[in-house]
Amino acid sequence: MDEKGQKLIEIAEEISECKKCSLSETRTKTVPGTGDAEAEIFFVGEAPGFNEDQKGIPFCGAAGKFLDELLKTIGLDRQKVFIANTLKCRPPENRDPEESEKDLCRHFLLEQIEVINPKIIVTLGKHSTETFLPGLGGITKLRAKLYRRPNGRYFFPLYHPAAALHNGSLRQTLEIDFGKLPAAVEKVKTELAKIEKENVKQEKLF
Ligand code: URA
Repeated sequence: MDEKGQKLIEIAEEISECKKCSLSETRTKTVPGTGDAEAEIFFVGEAPGFNEDQKGIPFCGAAGKFLDELLKTIGLDRQKVFIANTLKCRPPENRDPEESEKDLCRHFLLEQIEVINPKIIVTLGKHSTETFLPGLGGITKLRAKLYRRPNGRYFFPLYHPAAALHNGSLRQTLEIDFGKLPAAVEKVKTELAKIEKENVKQEKLF
């Protein structure tokens, strides 16, 4: 086990013991997230649903099956990316996450992002997108475009697979948008290489 993998396990253990909000009273299992500690792409969904709560694995129901299909279209599978949610526990009856729950849970997600240091964070749906790109507009406006935040992280919002699953036109849009993800990752890599080069140049000047 490398250092990153070990740190992710430690975060997952902390999550399993978390009792900061009332979701800890109704959860079956915590759902910390799964995937490659070296992933270039970090997907963030909304919150665990029934299946996820039972198994402790994110996106393991119908929406997850669709996400797996989408990943396959760009030559990836869930072992090569990291998948997590804004909340680590299931809200009862799959209700929307509450602001206080998101606030209390956010640090786990941020810690995972710091450890993995992905090239790009793909926010799936409204809640995840609002978490990282607050005040910029709705998912319909923001989707399939690349955003760089002041902290240097790159974001690529997409419709949530669960919302698109049974809606013909959203589904088609998500499939098309998903196809733009590899180019977005390449663009990030090019930009990061440019920034790195500039930094080296600056260092040589001083
Ligand atoms: N929907 C989500 O947002 N996350 C899951 O893990 C499953 C369904």
